[in-house]
Amino acid sequence: MPLDLSSLRATFQGTLVTPYDPSYEGARVLFNNRIRTRPAVIAKCADAGDVVAAVRFARDAGLPVAVRGGGHHASGFSLVEGGLVIDTGNLKDIAFDPGNATVVAGAGCGWRELDQVTYVDHTTPDGHGLAGPGGECPTVRNAGYSLGGGYGFLSRTYGLGCDHILGAQLVTADGEVLNVTGDEHPDLLWALRGAGGAGFGVVTHLAYRLDPVPRTVLGGVMAWSLDDAEEALRAYRDLYVGRDEDRLSIYLAIATDPYPDGEPLLMAYGMYVGPVEDGEQELAPLRAVGTPVFDAFGPTSYTDLQHALGAEIVYGLQLKWRGGYFRDGGFSDEAFAIIVDAARRAPSGYSMLRFDLLGGGAIGAVAPDATAFVHRSRLFNISIIAQWVRDDEAEANLRWTDDLQDALAPHLNGEVYQNYADADRADWAQAYYGATYARLQTIKQRYDPTDFFHHPQSIRLPG
Ligand SMILES: Cc1cc2nc3c(=O)[nH]c(=O)nc-3n(C[C@H](O)[C@H](O)[C@H](O)COP(=O)(O)OP(=O)(O)OC[C@H]3O[C@@H](n4cnc5c(N)ncnc54)[C@H](O)[C@@H]3O)c2cc1C
Repeated sequence: MPLDLSSLRATFQGTLVTPYDPSYEGARVLFNNRIRTRPAVIAKCADAGDVVAAVRFARDAGLPVAVRGGGHHASGFSLVEGGLVIDTGNLKDIAFDPGNATVVAGAGCGWRELDQVTYVDHTTPDGHGLAGPGGECPTVRNAGYSLGGGYGFLSRTYGLGCDHILGAQLVTADGEVLNVTGDEHPDLLWALRGAGGAGFGVVTHLAYRLDPVPRTVLGGVMAWSLDDAEEALRAYRDLYVGRDEDRLSIYLAIATDPYPDGEPLLMAYGMYVGPVEDGEQELAPLRAVGTPVFDAFGPTSYTDLQHALGAEIVYGLQLKWRGGYFRDGGFSDEAFAIIVDAARRAPSGYSMLRFDLLGGGAIGAVAPDATAFVHRSRLFNISIIAQWVRDDEAEANLRWTDDLQDALAPHLNGEVYQNYADADRADWAQAYYGATYARLQTIKQRYDPTDFFHHPQSIRLPG
């Protein structure tokens, strides 16, 4: 029986999609197509007024809600079975203030869209572009990314996405629009900086500070066969353990090349935020490892690098994402042997292992209790990302992720990056938020006392 949406339709400026519309399946699908959750209605909001109308309609109708931006939540918490999805993906207005190096972004802007305005189309008096604190995935939206932390190639130099949030506009469970700043609702601003997607309200806009990035940087990708992978992992660890320098941001991934039919390779990719010659020196220890299959590092622009790396991200595969931060000393030879062995046995060519993030630098310079983001000194992280197409491939791929997670358990410290959410973790509150969780519960009580914005891993009310 179709839901009676007439009262919502009367004011709604965006698009309402229900299971009775031919566009429903396309509108429903998440990055992770293993998620088959079927909402009763997807409210694709055109502006903050639509968000208010959707919240009020859902409250009055007694419908559960989920909030969605780009749909990349690894465990699918941006959909809700039989409920109303408040989709902010079309909130794409951008107000750039070049003089103050800030931008106010609609929650649905992707980082490439923002960088086009602030970095590509604008040059500062000293010849730089201004970049937001984005990651490489072109379809992730800025709000979902920054509210949960937000690591990109600029993070070690300038801080996380959440550290760049100056303020927010947020619609509460009552349908009230709050202006969240350091003066108004400072406790909520604290929570949004790291736990913002976990049940406080719907963010419609975020204000960010921007960072100067040279027009030309050293960036790219280099790769080794798995025969050289353990040596390359060792060199990478030695490059970063105890490192003070904070402009070199290199991530690792083991993925097939060409993707998804080729051989698995260990790839190092990223950039140096500074003069190209200095970057060459900093990268030299990695370049000295084994016999690279290719080395495509060279002078490039920040945005060209991001475009090139994002091109291989495929929306709509089935996915299981596990992993976590390594304990001190856990990113070890023993772990490397386990990792490379697992990479050789991956059941799907779409699967990958990612070693990204790299705390410390400007990330570690922020006190652990200054925001709701706690994993600041953690250098190494593994993402075990099984991806496949057909339902009958699920069992082998799920077993592969679980086996690798179990084998690495002695090397991990129990913390998990909340933006790489794992629905199977019963200890999620501790793993994502550690000692800040009790404070988050108090703020949840203040701003959402009926737990309207609830999902399987949203902040619980105290008691
Ligand atoms: C391929 C891929 C690459 C990634 N790369 C990186 C990376 O380089 N660095 C990094 O840090 N992370 C990365 N991530 C993780 C990503 O940042 C998070 O999954 C992020 O939450 C996705 O945001 P979204 O809007 O696309 O997803 P959604 O699934 O739409 O939302 C994710 C969560 O945020 C909440 N949310 C979204 N919009 C709002 C809003 N307007 N108001 C309140 N809550 C909201 C949702 O309710 C949900 O809980 C990657 C993920 C994928 C799948």
